[in-house]
Amino acid sequence: MNTGSDAQIEVRECKISDLGKSIGDKVRIRGWLYVKNTVGGISFLRVRDSSGIVQVVVRREKVGEDVFEQVDKLKRESSLIIEGVVKMDERAPGGVELGAESLRIQSPSLEDYPLRRELSSNVVWKYRHLFIRSRIMNTVLKLRSSLSNLFRKWLLEHDFYEVNAPSIVTAATEGGAKMFEVKYFDKKAFLTQSSQFYLEGAIFSLEKVFCFQPSFRAEESKTRRHLSEYWHLEVEASNMDFQGLLQMEEDMLTSVIEEFYNKHKDEIKRFNPGFKPFEKPFKKITYTQAVELLKSNGVDIEWGRDLGVREERMVATIFGQPVFITHYPKEVRAFYHMPDPENPSVVLSADLVVWPYGEIAGGGQRIDDYRMLFERIVESGYNPEDYAWYLDLRKYGSVPHSGFGLGFERLLAHILHLPSIKYAIPYPRTQTIVYP
Ligand code: ATP
Ligand code: MN
Repeated sequence: MNTGSDAQIEVRECKISDLGKSIGDKVRIRGWLYVKNTVGGISFLRVRDSSGIVQVVVRREKVGEDVFEQVDKLKRESSLIIEGVVKMDERAPGGVELGAESLRIQSPSLEDYPLRRELSSNVVWKYRHLFIRSRIMNTVLKLRSSLSNLFRKWLLEHDFYEVNAPSIVTAATEGGAKMFEVKYFDKKAFLTQSSQFYLEGAIFSLEKVFCFQPSFRAEESKTRRHLSEYWHLEVEASNMDFQGLLQMEEDMLTSVIEEFYNKHKDEIKRFNPGFKPFEKPFKKITYTQAVELLKSNGVDIEWGRDLGVREERMVATIFGQPVFITHYPKEVRAFYHMPDPENPSVVLSADLVVWPYGEIAGGGQRIDDYRMLFERIVESGYNPEDYAWYLDLRKYGSVPHSGFGLGFERLLAHILHLPSIKYAIPYPRTQTIVYP
C-alpha cells in the first residue's frame, strides 16, 4: 500500500551522460572538478564522472556563503556531490546544465593537479595513474573494455571455452632471448611469452579454447608497437587445418570489429575519421609473393629473411587493407609450425599485417606428429627434455590443430589510430616504464 510518503522521496542519483533525460528534475551527481570559472556571485564548474562532463552553475545565494567561498578555492579534481535541477542549455556541452541547490565537497584536492593541458610525454608516463582520468584515456579504456568483451562474446557463442594459462613457465615459445627470468623455483622459470602450448594441451579436453591474458617479452628495442607486458588473445582448436584457421580468424575479426564499430561509431570516428571495418575476404599473399612485391617496390630484401615492420607496413599500404602473409620460410618461424606438405621449405603460418603497426596477429597449423616435432626441436637448437610435456601431447591421440595469437593493444591502436600502443593500455610496461 502506498502511504503517500512523497515528502521523503530520495533525490535520484544520475550519471552525467543521462542528465539529458531528466530535464526539469532534481537529481544528484557525484563527480570530480574539471574546470572552474567564477564571475561575480556565480561559479561555473565543469564536473566529470565516468560517463561525461556537465556544466554546474553554483550561485552564492543558493548554496550559501560558506559553501560558495569553499568552492571558489577548490583545486582541480576535488571530488563533489551536487544536487540540483537539470536545465536545457544549447550552448553547454552535452546540451544541459545543472543548477546547483546544494553542494558537498567530498574531498578537496590537496595540491595543484600536476597534469595541465600542455602535456609533455614524460609527464604523462610519470603521472599515468592520473592521466587515465583524462577524457582521452577515459574513452580509450571504455573502448578497450568493450572490444575485449565483444571478442569473448563471439568466441563463447562459437563454442570456444576460455582457459586460464599460467604466467610462470619453464620454456620459451618464441626464442629464449626475450624471456624474463623468475628466480624462485628449483627449476629455471620465466614469465610466459605466449600461452599457446598450454592451450594446445587444453584442446585435448575442450577441443576449442581461447585465453585473454598477458604475455611478457623482454624486448630490446624501444618501438611504438612493443610492450614488455601486453594482452594476448590466443585461440587454439583441434581438427582445424590451416585453411580453417584463416577462415576462423577472418570471421572473428570481421564480425567483432563490425559490431564494435557499429556500437561506438562516434568515438571511433573522433579518433580515426578514416577507419573502415575490416572486409571479407582478407587479401592473402604468400611470403614468396610478398618478397617479389617488395623487391619490385625497390626494397632490398632476399628470400629467407624475416619481414620487419617496414616491410609489413609496405605490404599493408600497397593493398590498402589488412593482409594475410602466409607460408613463411621455416627458418624464420618457431619450430612448432607445420611444414607445407607441398613445399616443406615453408610452413603453414599466417601473419595478419595492417598499417601502420605491421603484424597484429600471427598463427598457423601446428606440427601434430611426435617424430617431426622432436626433430624440429633438435634442429632449432633446443633440448627436447625442456619440451617433454609439450611432446607428450603428440603421444596420446594427437590430432591436426591450429591456432593464433593477436596483440590486443596493436589492434586497438590500429583501429583508433593511436600514436603508440602505450596509449591502448592503462598502465603500460616497457623497458623504461615500470612506474606507476
Ligand atoms: P613482432 O615481430 O612484431 O615483434 P612477433 O613475431 O614477436 O611480433 P608473435 O610472437 O607472433 O609476435 O606474437 C603474437 C602477436 O602478439 C603479434 O602478432 C603481435 O600482435 C603481438 N605482440 C608480439 N610482441 C608484442 C609486444 N612486445 N607488445 C605488444 N604486442 C606484441
Ligand atoms: Mn617480436
